[in-house]
Amino acid sequence: MSSTRTALVCGAGGFIGSHLVRSLKCEGFWVRGVDLKYPEFSETAADEFIIGDLRDQAICRDVVDMPFDEVYQLAADMGGAGYIFTGEHDADVMHNSAMINLNILDLAHKQSVKKIFYSSSACMYPAYNQEDPENPKCSEDSAYPAAPDSEYGWEKLFSERLYLAYQRNYGVNVRIARYHNIFGPESTWRGGREKAPAAMCRKVAEAPDGGTIEVWGDGKQTRSFLYIDECLEAMRRFMDSDFSGPLNIGSEEMISINSLAEMVISISGKSLTIRNIPGPTGVRGRNSDNTLIRQKLGWSPQQPLRVGMEKTYWWIHAQVQAYNAVEA
Ligand code: NAD
Repeated sequence: MSSTRTALVCGAGGFIGSHLVRSLKCEGFWVRGVDLKYPEFSETAADEFIIGDLRDQAICRDVVDMPFDEVYQLAADMGGAGYIFTGEHDADVMHNSAMINLNILDLAHKQSVKKIFYSSSACMYPAYNQEDPENPKCSEDSAYPAAPDSEYGWEKLFSERLYLAYQRNYGVNVRIARYHNIFGPESTWRGGREKAPAAMCRKVAEAPDGGTIEVWGDGKQTRSFLYIDECLEAMRRFMDSDFSGPLNIGSEEMISINSLAEMVISISGKSLTIRNIPGPTGVRGRNSDNTLIRQKLGWSPQQPLRVGMEKTYWWIHAQVQAYNAVEA
């Protein structure tokens, strides 16, 4: 194993983590994955997969037991708006994710890991810059004065600072990304933790032609979404660069939630009506600002949102059909 590059993926059973393991394997890495669970929708591509709770220091010591070339810390207690914005999971979200970061980062330092990637989120940006759906501000330098709209965002901000402090004080080589809504096949699509693109695809796939789908809020709230393959490309360039971040990884193709619903309906070929209902929605507007990533990495997304949404819709459509066949 001496000349083979080694990577550890924490959260390797999750959406981004399972795709990342596959792409690291294609690049020739030896990969250890760790998670509370195996990937839900396909076999892991990892050379070694440890089922373990990263809140537990003893487990973390077993997991981070060598000077990996690359560690990716993606494990977090998270979900879509239905999980993050109701307030019911705040204590768990903050405690669980902070514990994981405290443990993994400290061991990465002690094991002299060469580089560690941390997945922060656009949810750390201040709510006051995201009140106008047409004109949100999410440049990396707009993070302070801090005012995230969720405890999930506050934990991300705390952990960003933790990683930067370890870099300053102990010379740990960190990469901090702020993801903006990553989506694609093999993401959670039911159960309460799904995000808007997957939820929308499920609702449309389940609706009978001529029926109605429910969309939370007035539907005028805006977001941008980045397809998983594009996210992985940006991550690779980021890891290979000299820049530590924080750095937005997202798309600048901003769309209202009702327009996203209309896009999915048109992909499905069905005729459906949208009914806007009260529900957790988060900030009014959010869009990635890619000025810095263009400048530092020369990267921007290559395909329009619709291309990724088509792949995602037909994957979820197949999942819904398979699920219904089992239930029937
Ligand atoms: P995910 O929920 O699919 O993956 C996270 C994984 O972490 C899950 O498989 C979960 O089982 C695991 N995990 C949670 N607690 C754990 C514990 N105590 N021990 C071990 N494993 C544990 O989420 P994802 O979409 O793949 O996101 C990955 C990372 O990116 C997360 O940190 C998330 O906050 C961040 N992020 C994602 C998005 C997005 O749009 N997907 C946006 C912003 C930030």
